[in-house]
Amino acid sequence: MKIRTSNLIFDSIVDGPSLRTVLFTQGCSHHCPGCHNTETWDPTKGQLKDVDDLFNQIINHGTKAMTFSGGEPFEQPLACASLAQRLKEQGFNLWSYSGYTWEQIQQDEDKKQLLKHLDVLVDGRFILAQKSLTLRFKGSSNQRIIDVQESIKQNKIVLYSLNKKRDFRQKREGIYI
Ligand code: SF4
Repeated sequence: MKIRTSNLIFDSIVDGPSLRTVLFTQGCSHHCPGCHNTETWDPTKGQLKDVDDLFNQIINHGTKAMTFSGGEPFEQPLACASLAQRLKEQGFNLWSYSGYTWEQIQQDEDKKQLLKHLDVLVDGRFILAQKSLTLRFKGSSNQRIIDVQESIKQNKIVLYSLNKKRDFRQKREGIYI
């Protein structure tokens, strides 16, 4: 199984709490005006990377927190789900950004396969008119930072509390918010 990938970076501090690995997938059909990652829109560009290779690269770095970003990770849901499942088995904390809303993801069984492995989903398209630099971990105020597991359990959207201490704390290098 392969993921079309734009970039893989390590030690990000802006894509969720603590130092995180970030996988930028390639291909996004949302085309939000004001998007900072327009080079990730074209689904024929980037590189096709084997899930096994990505898994090994991510594991070898040692940080147990990863964020799917894009591009649009939910436009490659099954391949991203396969990677997410394997990382979750290793105790990773997993976030994903998506231009799709929670409600849209609920309508698509493939997208739900990725969602079910996540701790947090930041949902919704970037809306330039609602952009604010004061927002934490999101670009525009319409986007929601959703506690995925609690939302699935309660069958309603539960927002993630940025003040909640989580069990993914990293002893050496964690940043708590
Ligand atoms: S969903 Fe994200 S990557 Fe896609 S166009 Fe919108 S801001 Fe850009």
